[in-house]
Amino acid sequence: MNPPSPYLDEPSGPLHLVPGYARLPERFFARLAPQPVARPRLLALNRALAADLGLDVESLGEDRLTALFSGNAPPRPGETIAAAYAGHQFGHFVPQLGDGRALLLGDLRDRTGVRRELQLKGSGRTPFSRSGDGRAALGPVLREYLVSEAMHALGIPTTRALAAVATGETVMREEVLPGAILTRVAASHVRVGTFEYFAARRDLEGLRALADYTIERHYPRAADAPRPHLALLDGVVERQASLVARWMLVGFVHGVMNTDNMAVSGETIDYGPCAFMDAYDPATCFSAIDRHGRYAYVNQPHAALWNLERFAAAILTLIDAAQERAVELARAALERFSVLYERHFQDGMRAKLGIGAERAGDAELARAWLELLHRNAVDFTVAHRRLADGGARELFADAGEFGRWEEAWRARLALEPEPFAARAAVMRSVNPAVIPRNHQVERAIDAAAHSGDLSPFVELSAALARPYERQERFAAFAEPPLPSERVLRTFCGT
Ligand code: AMP
Ligand code: MG
Repeated sequence: MNPPSPYLDEPSGPLHLVPGYARLPERFFARLAPQPVARPRLLALNRALAADLGLDVESLGEDRLTALFSGNAPPRPGETIAAAYAGHQFGHFVPQLGDGRALLLGDLRDRTGVRRELQLKGSGRTPFSRSGDGRAALGPVLREYLVSEAMHALGIPTTRALAAVATGETVMREEVLPGAILTRVAASHVRVGTFEYFAARRDLEGLRALADYTIERHYPRAADAPRPHLALLDGVVERQASLVARWMLVGFVHGVMNTDNMAVSGETIDYGPCAFMDAYDPATCFSAIDRHGRYAYVNQPHAALWNLERFAAAILTLIDAAQERAVELARAALERFSVLYERHFQDGMRAKLGIGAERAGDAELARAWLELLHRNAVDFTVAHRRLADGGARELFADAGEFGRWEEAWRARLALEPEPFAARAAVMRSVNPAVIPRNHQVERAIDAAAHSGDLSPFVELSAALARPYERQERFAAFAEPPLPSERVLRTFCGT
């Protein structure tokens, strides 16, 4: 690693950044400046997040912010970097991917003292761009902004969206589209694929530097474990088990769970063709490029475990110099995933159904409920909300079938020490009324991209900020799509 330089670590520039990833060896990234854009315009600024980050947006002013978040005036010139990484895409290993259209700006310490990393996404070509243009279209930028912020409001670990800037330039996709840049904030952008990059090159020194960086930044307690890198694997397994269970409990479908899109910090990252399920169907798969449903809703826990196996394989030599021993230790760590996942999922389902401490039969009750939703094609979000509020029966084509399940559910609730009203309050705190429904997200994106009208985006953002509250003025956003409004396909937009 580079020798520590007290000068470099002083926060500097308008955003008070310090170098983070840029302190790692030079072969971890390419240093380059963002490509300036023609006519930047600030479309969205996340004031609540800015305040959490300790940024004084009022005194910076709109022109300065626009210049910063468009890449036209990088906050610490000479220190913006494109990170190198690899990844398994749909099961196939690609030894070099990397930030092909993104640049890391540096770190800042948020109000609670936690290091956060800023990235511009859509900032122009880099040495990792391959045939891409290095840019992002407005639609996907707004989709990531909306959905990542909705995930945060739902209480699910995620990267955040600080700003969206229109570039004033167009990008060529299937059609000509307005370009934009997203400013993303993450615990870090280290991916499973970053580890794979060094492992594939047999760069043991690089691998160790990356692992130590990750431990220090995300899993500091692992440093004191007898085997720190095994503890790292344990930690990543635990956070992914919890994360994916949280996705499943709100009906989130990530869409491209390639290893380059899995952050080792445990945050949801890289919102591409992601979407929320409306009617409950385990096979739900929106992504136009996922022809075989590899990353369908129901497959997400399997995909996460598959990725964790790639992670374990990448750091195997760090776990133990004797390969057999390393494999044995890694296998035991990976075996915990399913147990942890199942526990998180079952705990979550009980909460969704208003049930407290676990009793025999709870998992069967939850499974019967989900099967009922599937058979009747009932909206996942509305159904859970109605269990607390009343009116669930009307959602089912077969009311008798619902009635039989409801009887079992009521009998189970009768075993709870609190009255139903108290359980219903808990249910409302875990079952969102408002999720970023695909048809609403697309409507907001369309209005912005094709008519320059940001008001649907602003209104949807506001509705998504408090998802567990039923707010009359946002009632429309709680509604499932009409059959004619249903969106079945989403695109990466890259
Ligand atoms: P993603 O689908 O966004 O996870 O990206 C997968 C890989 O393709 C990453 O290495 C990206 O940096 C790269 N990539 C995606 N879109 C572009 C683009 N427009 N220009 C250059 N590289 C891109
Ligand atoms: Mg990606």
